[in-house]
Amino acid sequence: MLLPPHQEVCNPGFCDCPFPNSIEVTNHKGHIPDLVSCRCGEDEPGNVSPWRWHSTDESDALVTDRDIIFHPTYSQGTAIVRGDRALKPGMVHFWEMRVITTLAGTDVMFGIGTESVNLGQFKFHFVSALGTNAQSWGFSYSGRIQHCGEQLPYGQKFSQGCLIGVCLDRTRGHLEFYLNRRSLGVAYTNVPTDPDIRIYPMVCSTAAKSVIRLINCTSQQVTLQLRSFQALSKQPLKLAELRQMPGLRGILQSYWFLAPPIRYSRNSRENELDLGDEAVLSSSKLRRGRKQKYRESDDAAVDEDDLYANAHKITLRSSDSGDEEHPASVHEMCDEYFHYLL
Ligand SMILES: [Zn+2]
Repeated sequence: MLLPPHQEVCNPGFCDCPFPNSIEVTNHKGHIPDLVSCRCGEDEPGNVSPWRWHSTDESDALVTDRDIIFHPTYSQGTAIVRGDRALKPGMVHFWEMRVITTLAGTDVMFGIGTESVNLGQFKFHFVSALGTNAQSWGFSYSGRIQHCGEQLPYGQKFSQGCLIGVCLDRTRGHLEFYLNRRSLGVAYTNVPTDPDIRIYPMVCSTAAKSVIRLINCTSQQVTLQLRSFQALSKQPLKLAELRQMPGLRGILQSYWFLAPPIRYSRNSRENELDLGDEAVLSSSKLRRGRKQKYRESDDAAVDEDDLYANAHKITLRSSDSGDEEHPASVHEMCDEYFHYLL
């Protein structure tokens, strides 16, 4: 179906639960989060809730443990809210937020920032606050990412009912976003790994009565197990084989966030692309186009890898990490990770 040019493609929600429309939200006299009964995907196993939202007078937002109501009366600018605890160095952190209200206005962003971010800096300015300088990194509801004031295309536009996941690897300095439980690929590889630099989860919004809920968060030590599963999470067929092994189930569960169970709304199932979302697929097509010069015959194999590879490979510009070629089998994969021990 062709959309009229003025209508931007927006990702459908994670599930089919009803969410309040803007008029209901505006007219509601009580606590806005109470309008939503959806609990889909909450409390995944392996969560230890290492942090919650931090309430401060610097930000025009009403904060409870899990919910943030930005600009509860009206909006005069941008509010930034952060987690109450820094994300520990040497660990992999994942957290997931549900978008409770329709997103609109200058920007609503999800990401991270250092302790140097001044939460009240844009109180009277409507801006895309995360990523305005080197101290923060943001993923906007427009689908773009921003750091050091530079915005780049990354994913699709998203709004109410969507789940936004953030994965920060503090040992490698990698930052990756998920939309409705699908990875959009590594967005940045320059997050400081220095243990002395404190980094916090952050969200910012310019929209009056916009509500975000933290639904899952977990922090895991970086171990050989985690690294192995990280590599496997890019190989869905092999992962499915491993899920059949009874002894591995518990381990796989504690790393659920690396290859999370996916639930789809009826809407999105109609357009199901099976392996990746359209944002990833479109970039995959570009990359496949390049590869086809050399590998005309086996693009099926290229496909599987590409769908799970970084949509934009921003890292490749500055880094020579060998991530691009994926090992072909579980055996090779294990070799790759076990040879460090030998
Ligand atoms: Zn739901």
